[in-house]
Amino acid sequence: MKNLRVIVAGGGIGGLSLALSLHQAGIAVRVYEAVPDPAPLGVGINLQPTAVRELTELGLGEALALTGVATRRLNLCNKFGQLIHDERRGLAAGYRWPQYSIHRGDLQLLLLRAVRDRIGDDNVRNGLKFTGFEQDGGSVRVRFADRRSGSQVIDEGDILVGADGIHSAVRRQLYPAEGEPRFAQQILWRAAAEAEPFLDGQTMVIAGHFHQRIIVYAIGKTPDGKALINWICQKGVPGRAPPREDWNRRVAKEEVLATFGGWKFPWLDLPALIERSFHIYEFPLVDRDPVAGWSFGRVTLLGDAAHPMQPIGGQAGSQAILDARALTRALSETNDPVTALLRYDGERRPAMNDIILRNRNLGPEAAMQLAEERAPNGFERINDVISSHELGAIVASFATAAGLDVETVNTRPSYIRPESWARA
Ligand SMILES: Cc1cc2nc3c(=O)[nH]c(=O)nc-3n(C[C@H](O)[C@H](O)[C@H](O)COP(=O)(O)OP(=O)(O)OC[C@H]3O[C@@H](n4cnc5c(N)ncnc54)[C@H](O)[C@@H]3O)c2cc1C
Repeated sequence: MKNLRVIVAGGGIGGLSLALSLHQAGIAVRVYEAVPDPAPLGVGINLQPTAVRELTELGLGEALALTGVATRRLNLCNKFGQLIHDERRGLAAGYRWPQYSIHRGDLQLLLLRAVRDRIGDDNVRNGLKFTGFEQDGGSVRVRFADRRSGSQVIDEGDILVGADGIHSAVRRQLYPAEGEPRFAQQILWRAAAEAEPFLDGQTMVIAGHFHQRIIVYAIGKTPDGKALINWICQKGVPGRAPPREDWNRRVAKEEVLATFGGWKFPWLDLPALIERSFHIYEFPLVDRDPVAGWSFGRVTLLGDAAHPMQPIGGQAGSQAILDARALTRALSETNDPVTALLRYDGERRPAMNDIILRNRNLGPEAAMQLAEERAPNGFERINDVISSHELGAIVASFATAAGLDVETVNTRPSYIRPESWARA
């Protein structure tokens, strides 16, 4: 459907990927982002091979390779740093595309540069915050508030996509009674610091258990050969009122050290990493309940606006990219926009709703909780505590549900067939 005009509210990972994807399919798109001057915000994020495949098919493979670290292994450990499960990732696991650990802000700016180059500055409008929409049978009228002047801007298109994150205002108009995100009584402290690489420099480690754990991985290299290491400390805070989610809320390192100051393993000095971090950010562990529909007439949701999930298994960014590709395919293959949005909804929503619920049960990291319950003082051999059969079952069931198994990723057809690309 070539003569469509799509309006995207939100220029994050999902909204920008959608803009690139629609442009590739020859569909006109304009992105509205609330932030006036997008800066490289956030810390580390993971791109799974299935999403790297999509960005590669959008011509961004080389730029990604220059920006991110190709992750080769995932180690799940107990709170003493003892190995529970060692898993190959990315190319090392047989995928045809790497898994990248990357700075979220660098990824956003990389996408933004490509979007500006391809669809032009006029079609990427910053400082305009979505405030509401009206639709009739033939079009959708979308209102934005100009954050600099306070004036209202109106645009009209065939479709509106809400890619405006976990506090999506588009979703709020569709689900006015939904309220705030669901707080899982856990907080995350996150930062990045320069340090000597740990293990092989390309291993992601998750250590601990449900109530207290760390996630550590490299997201870049410094010119003098050091690694930029992303770390997250996660802690249960039962009974605490949910802090407002704000990606920029800072916390003092003393507060983090008070809980994680003793987490020093033979191969990783976490307290030293915490000491070396300039800014540490606090974020509550939140998600939202699955909803019964994303698409309503000419309006739909994508990424965190559609399926805000706990950051288990490094899924949120990757699934937003997959949404973008699935939506583009539906729009390319169907003549009626309303039918296309329903097709996208039917294809993506059941699997994403399933991941939201699975992540509440720890996804593949359930193995760490099992080790803590069965061997709180550590173990000599993990197989005395959890059988390899049990371990394999926990990890494999999640990979299949998330569409992440090697066979599926490597052999599924491209979302957008090269012969229908409007421009390489
Ligand atoms: C500042 C920031 C930092 C983050 N840091 C991390 C991190 O370190 N690690 C991690 O794993 N995930 C991080 N995330 C979340 C991660 O980017 C998402 O979970 C994932 O990439 C899905 O992307 P998304 O595009 O759906 O949502 P997001 O990446 O959240 O993007 C949503 C975009 O919509 C914009 N927006 C919001 N409201 C409006 C509105 N009313 N009108 C127009 N635009 C609007 C936001 O400014 C944002 O640019 C961060 C998100 C943000 C916004």
